[in-house]
Amino acid sequence: MIGDVVNIRVSFHHLCPLLEGGSDNQRVAIFLQSRHQLAAKFDRRSTVRGAPLHGTERRGNPEGVFKRQRHESSIIVNWFGRMSYKAGRHFLQLPGPTNVPDRILHAIANPTIDHRSADFAALTTTCLEGMKAVFQTKGDVVIFPGSGTGAWEAALVNTLSAGDKVLAFDSGHFAGLWVKVAKNFGLNVDLIGGDWRCGADAEALAARLSEDSSHEIRAVMVVHNETSTGVTSDIAAVRRALDAAGHPALLMVDTVSSLGSIDYRHDEWRVDVAVAGSQKGLMLPPGLCFNTISEKAIAASRTAMLPRSYWRWDEMREMNRKGFFPYTPATNLLYGLREAVKMLVEEEELPNVFCRHQRHAEATRRAVRAWGLGIFAINPAEFSPSATAIVMPEGFNEADLRAVILRHFDMSLGAGLGKLAGKVFRIGHLGSFNDLMLAGTLCGVEMGLKLAGVPHQPGGVDAALEWLAT
Ligand code: PLP
Repeated sequence: MIGDVVNIRVSFHHLCPLLEGGSDNQRVAIFLQSRHQLAAKFDRRSTVRGAPLHGTERRGNPEGVFKRQRHESSIIVNWFGRMSYKAGRHFLQLPGPTNVPDRILHAIANPTIDHRSADFAALTTTCLEGMKAVFQTKGDVVIFPGSGTGAWEAALVNTLSAGDKVLAFDSGHFAGLWVKVAKNFGLNVDLIGGDWRCGADAEALAARLSEDSSHEIRAVMVVHNETSTGVTSDIAAVRRALDAAGHPALLMVDTVSSLGSIDYRHDEWRVDVAVAGSQKGLMLPPGLCFNTISEKAIAASRTAMLPRSYWRWDEMREMNRKGFFPYTPATNLLYGLREAVKMLVEEEELPNVFCRHQRHAEATRRAVRAWGLGIFAINPAEFSPSATAIVMPEGFNEADLRAVILRHFDMSLGAGLGKLAGKVFRIGHLGSFNDLMLAGTLCGVEMGLKLAGVPHQPGGVDAALEWLAT
């Protein structure tokens, strides 16, 4: 029996990533494949109570209760203990979707109204005007029911024709997904390479534009804040490169994880099409997406030939003028949007929102450095105020760490995406977020590093608190 218990203890460390939340929220089941030595030792009738567990297991499972049974070729261990009931609030520290404040949830809970009524028209107009302030534009904003991916598509199909050349940066997972959308529509994508640790290279862009004397490049696509890497791009520098080359390409910017958390200046940077979603800095659930459009982009949309229907700007803008939509809008999310804009623009005010994000990002980086872990972004000027990607030590997988943190502390952190899967985890520090939420987040990470056996120095939380308390 003691031998069994020892095996359970040993395997628990290795099997953390295999933990699956029980459907009834009452238990966690670990599926131990029969190839594990342990399998042979389980007996379907045996139950161990108060077993002499050690270290992590004892703390994680004070009852020391394991119930085991044979199930096909696997052994199922049902673990009854800590976190089987999740008290308090889940920590949603992804870099989006972000925590939705109660007052936005309450706004969304208003009764749905007739979307052809005068009341609805007033709601639309308030939202559209408010979003102009958030985008820092006097131009047109359109709001679609959809996700950020829809807004990517809308940006492309409204302005371009099949075979058009567009220039993009290989700056991260989401930049790559946008490129994929462009290719799906038959656009000819020219890619400026990168290692994802730096933002869009304005010098490389300048060089590429200077080679394009016939102005074949119709659009430049840039992600302002690459959520997968925690790296921002200098949009003003991209604008300067276009201006210096006297190049007429449209400038398209993805602001999905920057809008409402990082200073984004649509008019000042003369961006032609911005892309955004509701679920990050805007503090809403997923479900709305946005384009903000310059006059130049509107002119391009008159001759663009890519097929489009749902994402048509012209029909949307026409209906929006009277406060309506060409199809059923996401009425309740618009209630939430009205509330969010009020919070960001009127109450906290955007400059303060941006400062708050920078402050939390700096505190996070101080914690990471004190832990002795690496920040994925290289250039301090490009460190993201909304998300930090943290490099795992060699031989340790971020998915294992996140699983331990979720199981023990009910906190979700961002996964490594694309080629960074397994290698980095991401802390989202954007949206509706304050000092103590950040402190809780960093405590969860520090305790998780310890529980998961990831090599690190203690003191990350202290370093962050020191910064927050000054
Ligand atoms: N762009 C960026 C920078 C993102 O972070 C995301 C999603 O996280 C997207 C685009 C895609 O948005 P969605 O998942 O809402 O379609």
